[in-house]
Amino acid sequence: TRVRPGSKRCAVIGGSGFLGRHLVEKLLDRGYSVSLFDIRQSYELPGVTFHQGDLCDKQALLSALKDVSLVFHCASPAPSSDDRLLFERVNIQGTQTVIQACLDAGVQKLVLTSSASVVFEGTDVKNGKEDLPYAKKPIDYYTQTKIEQEKLVLEACNKPKGFLTVAIRPHGIFGPRDPQLVPTLVDAARRGKMKFIIGDGTNLVDFTYVENVVHGHILAAEHLRADSPICGKPYHITNDEPIRF
Ligand code: NAD
Repeated sequence: TRVRPGSKRCAVIGGSGFLGRHLVEKLLDRGYSVSLFDIRQSYELPGVTFHQGDLCDKQALLSALKDVSLVFHCASPAPSSDDRLLFERVNIQGTQTVIQACLDAGVQKLVLTSSASVVFEGTDVKNGKEDLPYAKKPIDYYTQTKIEQEKLVLEACNKPKGFLTVAIRPHGIFGPRDPQLVPTLVDAARRGKMKFIIGDGTNLVDFTYVENVVHGHILAAEHLRADSPICGKPYHITNDEPIRF
């Protein structure tokens, strides 16, 4: 049976953030109603119910997950905070709490925003595929906890229980309202700190436009079914074809 537009309800944990807000806006366009869970509120929109709370608090999560069958988890402390205990509490314990709350609430699908850095070992990766192993020596605490977080979510995929999971791994995300990537580069350039070359000047880095990242998340969510090969798998995501929904 086809779900009528408007009757689709999902939750976005971290929906007040840069990626989260773009995801929420696209979900609304596609006829979903959205339960937004975040520690802070950054905007209001028709079709969005805001629930303020810390994702480490299962009771708070449960009220946001009521009548929701699909959950996107794109909350994380900022990598720049470099606060090991905070990353461990939110990205590891908090993700365990998210999974438990999903199971308790009868959620059927969980889509995690992971990171391409989970396979970055400090040396060049060109055309890296998903069969690369997790980094043995992650570059920072943030990445270390993103690895643990991704493993937790993918291992929680359980077809008999009707709980399906998938992870999307973007690298640097840019686009409207980007609070970090481009502003940091522009700021460094203004302060004259971009006058050096890393390597021989041919190095490449993978930045992905935010709408492509959103597109990847929604495709993953809408193809996540018990008979789908994407269950329990991570996917790198980058710019390629223009976005067409
Ligand atoms: P962001 O900081 O703009 O958004 C993160 C949101 O999570 C914020 O609104 C914040 O309030 C919320 N949050 C943090 N701790 C929370 C908690 N304990 N409980 C509830 N909400 C909490 O970051 P973003 O750039 O939108 O990143 C979204 C996701 O994408 C993150 O998982 C991040 O690891 C991943 N990611 C981002 C990039 C990038 O370049 N921005 C690259 C790769 C992966």
